[in-house]
Amino acid sequence: MATEEKDILRGGQFLVKETNCEDVFTPEDFSEEQTMMKESVMEFNDREIIPHKARFEAKDYALTEDVMRKAGDMGFLSVAVPEAYGGMGMGFVSTVLTCDYISSGTGSFSTAFGAHTGIGTMPITLYGTEEQKQKYVPKLASGEWFGAYCLTEPGAGSDANSGKTTATLSEDGKTYKINGQKMWISNAGFCKLMIVFARIENDKNITGFIVEFDKENPNGITLGEEEHKLGIRASSTRQVFFNDTIVPVDSMLAGRGEGFKIAMNALNVGRIKLAAACLDSQRRILSTAVNYANERKQFKTPISDFGAIKVKLAEMATNAYAGESATYRAAKNIEDRIALREAAGNTHQEAELKGVEEYAIECSILKVAVSEDVQHAADEGIQIFGGMGFSEETPMESAWRDARIARIYEGTNEINRMLSVGMLVKKAMKGHVDLLGPAQKVQEELMGIPSFDTPDFSELFSEEKVMINKLKKTFLMVAGGAVQKFGPDLDKHQQLLIAAADILIEIYMAESAILRTEKNAKRFGEDSQSVQIAMSKLYLYHAVDIIEEKGKESIISFAEGDEQRMMLMGLKRFTKYQNYPDIVDLRNEIAEKVKAENKYCF
Ligand SMILES: Cc1cc2nc3c(=O)[nH]c(=O)nc-3n(C[C@H](O)[C@H](O)[C@H](O)COP(=O)(O)OP(=O)(O)OC[C@H]3O[C@@H](n4cnc5c(N)ncnc54)[C@H](O)[C@@H]3O)c2cc1C
Repeated sequence: MATEEKDILRGGQFLVKETNCEDVFTPEDFSEEQTMMKESVMEFNDREIIPHKARFEAKDYALTEDVMRKAGDMGFLSVAVPEAYGGMGMGFVSTVLTCDYISSGTGSFSTAFGAHTGIGTMPITLYGTEEQKQKYVPKLASGEWFGAYCLTEPGAGSDANSGKTTATLSEDGKTYKINGQKMWISNAGFCKLMIVFARIENDKNITGFIVEFDKENPNGITLGEEEHKLGIRASSTRQVFFNDTIVPVDSMLAGRGEGFKIAMNALNVGRIKLAAACLDSQRRILSTAVNYANERKQFKTPISDFGAIKVKLAEMATNAYAGESATYRAAKNIEDRIALREAAGNTHQEAELKGVEEYAIECSILKVAVSEDVQHAADEGIQIFGGMGFSEETPMESAWRDARIARIYEGTNEINRMLSVGMLVKKAMKGHVDLLGPAQKVQEELMGIPSFDTPDFSELFSEEKVMINKLKKTFLMVAGGAVQKFGPDLDKHQQLLIAAADILIEIYMAESAILRTEKNAKRFGEDSQSVQIAMSKLYLYHAVDIIEEKGKESIISFAEGDEQRMMLMGLKRFTKYQNYPDIVDLRNEIAEKVKAENKYCF
């Protein structure tokens, strides 16, 4: 049955609309086809990547290229590519799950994979002309050619539209000449195609070009040496220099000055895929850590029996679970919106573009949350391994180094935090998400007398859902107050934006975990989900804490006197449990399950 418009939340609407658990997609909903894909990718990871970990760490760039080619042979590079261009044309959920399960062996491969399939290929499938797609996409989908994405320059990182690379039209109007320097280009060492962003004359915005790169006939393109990096050591990262590189005019991607839009939209897709790429790493880190903790004895006791280690196991499992819940929830929203737009007559290309753009807020939220969770997991993984964790001989050390980049590329986490709130405020201004109405209601509630009724919280998650609702009110109170105070100058108040983003992120992650568990409890029985229930409650508990802290910091910074007092009272009310969960018990339950299974098992 076709999904109806009314059934699908718009991007950002999770904040003001209640979602029924039946309406979220969870990893337990994978179809047979998706499950087969997942197993095939896991098997590939186990066979082609994991056993060669040492070679990746020793900067064996040729191995990365070789495994990429094998991934191409298996069809993994073409999951998201429409069948008309030699791809499998699978849905967005399948694209995301491929990124998830192919990425845990080493960050080197996952970066090469992400750069090629995401930012290296997607700009052409999303913005290319029919001729461009026919010419290039089949080669990229099969792995005959690899793609790279050249946006960053020495002077233009986060401020991506400020690049100095130029494209100059020839006198006969047939070609452009590209000159400039790009930096930190993933896959540069073995790519045959580059998406290059350059400025034409004094245009406000940059323009995208498809540039072929043949080492035998380099057309003015030279590469810097491989960068020596903290992590992802066998991912090829080089500077790329363009010296009078001539490209035909029809290599322009979309229109003149459209490059910034292309760059941003490619990054939206890249962000949710990057979040996915940090999921299986977390599962693997936890499984490896619990395995070690069960074996390692100190004081004649397996260290996994110590409360101090159980905390780590429980928190690692909980974050991974919440990350999975939120990533697949958003992935399916995107897939459904694409289907909806196609049903309404959009081409697949338009539908995909708009579908992903719609959920840009969620993509930023996921990128930040999951990249920080994997870093935390790797850090705790090292701690569980003790001194051995610090050794190159154990996998924790490289996992920690590899995880670090995820907070930097695809837009730094600072930029993504500010973007998530900025985009939401913009959507509200355009009337796409009604924040004003709900924010006014919160204002009225703040001035009213609170109810002293004792609610019945006997049903599963009834209190947690009330808490989520109250956390949403906290966001509306804080962000609404800040918008009122600073108006269009809000973007100058970065600390406030970042605090608001943290509130937004915690709401989305906590709600996603709860909805997933509630859905599964309803269909598989509550008993079967007791540990997942514990994880959902534990995640929420931390979310409430973070939100209280960030809310307080924000209110104090922009409100004064009576207004400040009223908001702080509201904050107290919105972050107060009727019955506090015993988080020590919750952690013990989660840790015991992980210990017994000797792996991440959810
Ligand atoms: C291993 C690796 C691979 C990469 N691969 C690619 C690739 O394939 N293609 C490509 O084009 N690029 C790539 N990049 C570049 C990457 O996207 C940039 O490094 C990133 O966007 C940040 O830019 P920057 O390094 O210039 O840092 P800067 O922009 O200089 O940022 C430095 C710090 O300042 C903060 N900051 C910057 N602006 C603001 C602001 N307005 N407000 C608040 N804080 C701000 C940032 O958050 C960061 O903490 C790669 C980078 C690395 C390290």
